[in-house]
Amino acid sequence: MAKPEITRREFIKGLAAGAASLATLGILQSCEYSLQDSKTNPGIGGGGAAAPQASSGLTFTPGTYEATARGIGSDVKVTMTFDEKSITDVQIDVSGETPDIGGKIGDQMAQAILQAQSADVDAVSGATITSDAIKAAAADCISQASGTTVTLGGDSASGSSDWLGEAPEIAESDITETLDTEVLVVGCGTGGWITTMTAAEEGAKVLVLEKRETPTNIRHDIGAIGSKRQLESIAADPKYAIDKMEALQDIVRYGGGYVDSDLIKVWENESAELVDWLTDILERDGYFAMRHEAGVGNINDPGRDKAYATGHSPETLPGAPEGMETDVYFRQYCDSMGVEFRCNTALVKLEQDGNGKVTGAIAQDQTDNHYIRVNASKGVIMCAGGYASNTDMMQALQPMTLSMKINLPAGSTCDGSGIKAMLWAGAALDPTHASMMFNRACCLPTETAGYKTNGKMFWFGEQPFLKVNLNGKRFCNESGPYEFMLHSMYMQPNHTYCDIFDSNAKAYAEQFDEVGCCRLFPFDNGAPSNRDFDSVWDQITGQFVDEGYVIKADTIEDLAKGMNIPADNLVAAVDRYNELCAKGVDEDYGKELHRMTPVTQAPYYGVRVGAWHLTTLNGCRINTDMQVIREDGSVIEGLWATGDCTGGFFAQTYPNLFTGLACGRTMTFGRHAAKIVAHL
Ligand SMILES: Cc1cc2nc3c(=O)[nH]c(=O)nc-3n(C[C@H](O)[C@H](O)[C@H](O)COP(=O)(O)OP(=O)(O)OC[C@H]3O[C@@H](n4cnc5c(N)ncnc54)[C@H](O)[C@@H]3O)c2cc1C
Repeated sequence: MAKPEITRREFIKGLAAGAASLATLGILQSCEYSLQDSKTNPGIGGGGAAAPQASSGLTFTPGTYEATARGIGSDVKVTMTFDEKSITDVQIDVSGETPDIGGKIGDQMAQAILQAQSADVDAVSGATITSDAIKAAAADCISQASGTTVTLGGDSASGSSDWLGEAPEIAESDITETLDTEVLVVGCGTGGWITTMTAAEEGAKVLVLEKRETPTNIRHDIGAIGSKRQLESIAADPKYAIDKMEALQDIVRYGGGYVDSDLIKVWENESAELVDWLTDILERDGYFAMRHEAGVGNINDPGRDKAYATGHSPETLPGAPEGMETDVYFRQYCDSMGVEFRCNTALVKLEQDGNGKVTGAIAQDQTDNHYIRVNASKGVIMCAGGYASNTDMMQALQPMTLSMKINLPAGSTCDGSGIKAMLWAGAALDPTHASMMFNRACCLPTETAGYKTNGKMFWFGEQPFLKVNLNGKRFCNESGPYEFMLHSMYMQPNHTYCDIFDSNAKAYAEQFDEVGCCRLFPFDNGAPSNRDFDSVWDQITGQFVDEGYVIKADTIEDLAKGMNIPADNLVAAVDRYNELCAKGVDEDYGKELHRMTPVTQAPYYGVRVGAWHLTTLNGCRINTDMQVIREDGSVIEGLWATGDCTGGFFAQTYPNLFTGLACGRTMTFGRHAAKIVAHL
């Protein structure tokens, strides 16, 4: 019998009238009811004076119920108390979640669930994974109390295609604080720190707005051309020299042309000064050393894609005080220059005068929700990051990334609020998307990639071992930019692949001679890699095998069984791969010979892999002075921007073979903008 259809509108109307619940219609109860709906239906969702009632019209067995669901770093626990008709109390334990992110949303979510009388409430922006876990556990409690299976109506994306909406109207009477500054820096992460220190050094009065409790530390691979440290490496070995024109052509090619060549040239021409300046700051007390990551791979056996030795990384030295990190150091420096920081304070929108010039911003203090007007006499510099945690924006602008990603605790928590504020002010948006994704996330053999799958950081991911699809078949050259592998994966069933390696992995990984942050051995000049082989291997073959993420087997057939992929296909793929390795040529996909390593030494290992989504890299268009521009190229006066909230630099993919390019451009552009704005 066909299921009776009921529209969302009819469902709500029916509930308001106290009519039959869906249960009486004989279909699965669905809490397809949001907080927003409840505002338009007082009496259902706790609005007005009416006693709260479950938004679904359910009745409950009074009592207290408990449920847990997997968050990003822990099992989130929800405890709910019910009387016969309503939820009377909600307690949420998120103490195992990231303190500054999911770990602080328990009270907010509890209040929302109580008010909506439903588990189907809005996720907290920037903490969607913890929010989803809370919602799932709350739905479980409601199911237990009602004796009816309650499912959530949607997912963390609202399904709304209007991700932009309108700039919120804030009544003057709600703005209870006014701050005056010369330079307003919005967002303090990789770009914000550099922008702030530069503007303050140049003598400007600087105010920083940061929505988190504390600013975000800079990322530690910084790409540049021509720094003093890099020139030292080149003097020792000319193979590290970088031809700027060749680099420009390559970056343009990676972006399929959807980039502004002149912006790329600003990075090429000014990144050396940025790194040298930063090196001087970081090294002056002897706590840090800036290291050049001297590595370009095996140039005698070049592959399809060229690596550039652009990476620089600050290393913390043994003499540094306990807890000394680069952000701690920067904060001390900023304090010494009189910079004012307002943390827990989020930009809401930009303010413009009658001519469209940006004059400041409206922000909201997140501890007590009061609104603040910030007047910036010289200008506003946006450093508010991308939109990786805004699932609606992701769905609208780059849904393929959501299909490839596996959730990990580490990643940008930015929600696109900076980009939206600039668009409301008239900015143009990049024509196409870009993200930074690494093939460094794994899931269980019973799972596939997708943004609802939570997994583990699989640091081994980019090592170019044999990789097969879920049918057990090899499908591409495994060696090259991280995202090339992932994009090739996207073309395969369920957007997930399997990494296959054997017990000779250490010798092979050294032979691969990888560059950048996936390198597992010291660089040629002794600079340390981000992680060393042994610690990664111990985790993979210990913890991950125990937890069932990595399958260990003595035969390829058993490996295939453990991975839930066809054994005959995997055996054939391994045989063919070993044959090509012996032949000394990859006749199938053209991988470099030094990366063709056979799978012959038991025990064998296999793991399902997807994308670690670090951040988004497309945003509002800027000119070569980092002024935000409109679609027609005209400048929005008073507004500058850098980093992940800006565009024109990356498209389609992240060229990770230019190590640290994202941070390098963000910092270089922040410094460029700050020098201009400070002297207006
Ligand atoms: C784990 C990780 C590692 C990475 N490692 C590297 C690397 O080594 N090299 C590299 O080149 N790239 C790396 N990246 C990418 C790189 O960090 C980014 O591309 C970029 O440089 C970030 O700079 P940003 O200032 O634009 O954004 P962020 O550093 O993300 O800073 C944005 C700041 O704005 C704040 N903010 C957001 N919205 C608001 C608001 N409405 N009001 C107030 N504040 C707000 C945020 O809380 C945040 O502190 C990494 C990314 C991640 C996630």
